[in-house]
Amino acid sequence: NTFAEIDLGDALNQNIRRCKYVKPTPVQRHAIPISLAGRDLMACAQTGSGKTAAFCFPIISGIMKMQDQSAQRPPRGARTVYPQALILSPTRELSMQIHEEAKKFSYQTGVKVVVAYGGAPIHQQLRELERGVDILVATPGRLVDLLERARVSLQMIKYLALDEADRMLDMGFEPQIRKIVEQMDMPRPGLRQTMLFSATFPKEIQRLASDFLATYIFLAV
Ligand code: AMP
Repeated sequence: NTFAEIDLGDALNQNIRRCKYVKPTPVQRHAIPISLAGRDLMACAQTGSGKTAAFCFPIISGIMKMQDQSAQRPPRGARTVYPQALILSPTRELSMQIHEEAKKFSYQTGVKVVVAYGGAPIHQQLRELERGVDILVATPGRLVDLLERARVSLQMIKYLALDEADRMLDMGFEPQIRKIVEQMDMPRPGLRQTMLFSATFPKEIQRLASDFLATYIFLAV
């Protein structure tokens, strides 16, 4: 019933202590073991429930474990980067918040988090991406732009988290989201593990879940 009892890797467990998180929130208590076990997850969770950590911890922990095999920074001058995890969020503000939290959680883990959102010049985001990225936090529109410029490839994505999925659909992002997920699955279907977070669970979200998730566990807290 404490984070100390969950083995997420030494560096991450230490960062969790640094953040003064002691007890998991309900969504964390249930979502983290499901994701660590490799299962897909659809979770109904509100803002303030601790959902950011619920999807960040398994992603960071999983990438830390894969690092020995795959830790590579892009070679100098390489233009396309290959993140291992993608966190999609509806707005610039939420993306920035997730980025800030994910950076704290991944401190000294060797896991690099980069954010890309619309409504801001793309060039600084491109420079940041060029230095390497394990976890990309992005809004759907900006990510489609990066994919079209061939600056990001989703071929190596192992973890996909969709945050506030109902809000993304309300904002009209469904075509972009479908395009993004299609690119992810083209070369290697079945590689990714997916976590879908939404405050509500209307028909449109149920359809996304059945399209994007493998046999999944439904969590309502
Ligand atoms: P979220 O729902 O992810 O936006 O998180 C809401 C707030 O709760 C954020 O300020 C988090 O830093 C904080 N928080 C998340 N999980 C925990 C936890 N297990 N213990 C204490 N604070 C937490």
